[in-house]
Amino acid sequence: MAFNSRKNVDLIIMGGGSAAFAAALRASELGADVTMINEGLPIGGTCVNVGCVPSKTLIRAAEAHYRASHHHFSGIESQSHVADFQAIVAQKRQLVEELRQEKYINIIEETQNLRFVKGRARLVAPNRITVNGDKITGDSILIATGARPMIAPVAGLMETGYLTNETAFELEKLPGSFIVLGGRYIALECAQMLARFGSKITILQRSSRILPTEGEDLTDALSGYLREEGIEVVTNVTTRLVRKEGNQVLVEATVDETPRTFYAEQILVATGRKANTEGLGLEETRVEVDSKGFLKVDETLKTSVSNIYGAGDVIGEPMFVYTTAYEGALAAENAISESARVRDYSILPWVIFTDPQVAGVGLDEVQAEEQGIETDAVSLPLTQVPRSLAARDTRGFIKLIRDRQTDKLMGARILAPEGSELLMQISLALKYGMTTKELASSFHPYLTLSESIKLAAISFEKDVKKLSCCAN
Ligand SMILES: Cc1cc2nc3c(=O)[nH]c(=O)nc-3n(C[C@H](O)[C@H](O)[C@H](O)COP(=O)(O)OP(=O)(O)OC[C@H]3O[C@@H](n4cnc5c(N)ncnc54)[C@H](O)[C@@H]3O)c2cc1C
Repeated sequence: MAFNSRKNVDLIIMGGGSAAFAAALRASELGADVTMINEGLPIGGTCVNVGCVPSKTLIRAAEAHYRASHHHFSGIESQSHVADFQAIVAQKRQLVEELRQEKYINIIEETQNLRFVKGRARLVAPNRITVNGDKITGDSILIATGARPMIAPVAGLMETGYLTNETAFELEKLPGSFIVLGGRYIALECAQMLARFGSKITILQRSSRILPTEGEDLTDALSGYLREEGIEVVTNVTTRLVRKEGNQVLVEATVDETPRTFYAEQILVATGRKANTEGLGLEETRVEVDSKGFLKVDETLKTSVSNIYGAGDVIGEPMFVYTTAYEGALAAENAISESARVRDYSILPWVIFTDPQVAGVGLDEVQAEEQGIETDAVSLPLTQVPRSLAARDTRGFIKLIRDRQTDKLMGARILAPEGSELLMQISLALKYGMTTKELASSFHPYLTLSESIKLAAISFEKDVKKLSCCAN
């Protein structure tokens, strides 16, 4: 769409991902005239194209294949083999295309006063951007340009070649082996998915543990489960050099200061995310970024320039699609109505889609201690949960953290198959200030996995091993 260079709109949105769409919808509801500009990833940005959607559908496909031949019931023999990897990828592609159409492209057509421009936007003044040679002037501007994979500066990596989440979900043929650089959620989800499809996986993690910001109990248990599936998890790794040798890639590293060499067919890099803040004209307009390049915003999501806001991955953690959408809507509201609502992440549930899944909300015991709160924590192994026993899958535990004085729930950490589905009852309990006694005394159907939350709450006072079925 060509623009008259004096075109004036209420809100210009730089970027076309989840933050941008949530902002556009809220701005339109408020009667604003909005222009959204996207280039780089296809419309919809990271989540639908190269993030949540492709990863989660491929993880499910890998799980279906793996579970078919790995269950714990006697007398049942089943096998599974990946007959057509391309068909799996094609099915994923179809889902991505459908959701991109339904949740993004159609939304543009259905939203009043929303125009879309395909092009790269650049700020040229605090209230003006250029795109495709046109100038657009707006009362407010929202920067929602997202983030991209951060590539660790390892010698030879660029020349050798590597995959990231932007390319790995489009593979036509599954490589026989992968070295995965990184040990946080994207690395772990991808590593297990690729392993279950049949690749031999080596995870090289710089820190002493995978998921280093979580407790040792959780990361040790998860590392064990991944190793049981044949994934090599190597920690304390400093990667020195990457090079090609025949059809293989070779990674020279030191592990605990001992030199080691790792070989694989492909490398997947998942060493973090980098904000898309370069080339946006930020310096000229005095919009500030932090030391890592993320956009600096205040609690109302305003940048250092009063009519320019930021939302989504471009402002840094937390980087989830639901926080991104929340921020987009909040920023639009503050920009259009000139309100100053502040962001609130006080109760923020999160999930890592490994199997068993990792899920959390609120504080863990270490974080509570850092904040000077005296807590008690209980950790209930799933070996004490009837549903898990019946399913013959007792991997993991439920950890609840409570305020020692008031008995109020402070947080939870879950490591359990489908553990993400347990999270919202705890999240709501936290939101509404429930005590663990109240949680323990509410009905939970037998045998459900959600009963594990009740059993964990009971175990603050009693040894559940000594209780009869369903007794408090
Ligand atoms: C592998 C992976 C799995 C994930 N899984 C989950 C999950 O299961 N659950 C969850 O909650 N979150 C998940 N996330 C995180 C989630 O995808 C992101 O937090 C979210 O999509 C970020 O949205 P955004 O709008 O901030 O940025 P993006 O969606 O990245 O959108 C930014 C858009 O702006 C464009 N752009 C950049 N510069 C310009 C410019 N100058 N002009 C115009 N356009 C520009 C970009 O190309 C892009 O299209 C996952 C992420 C990854 C990478």
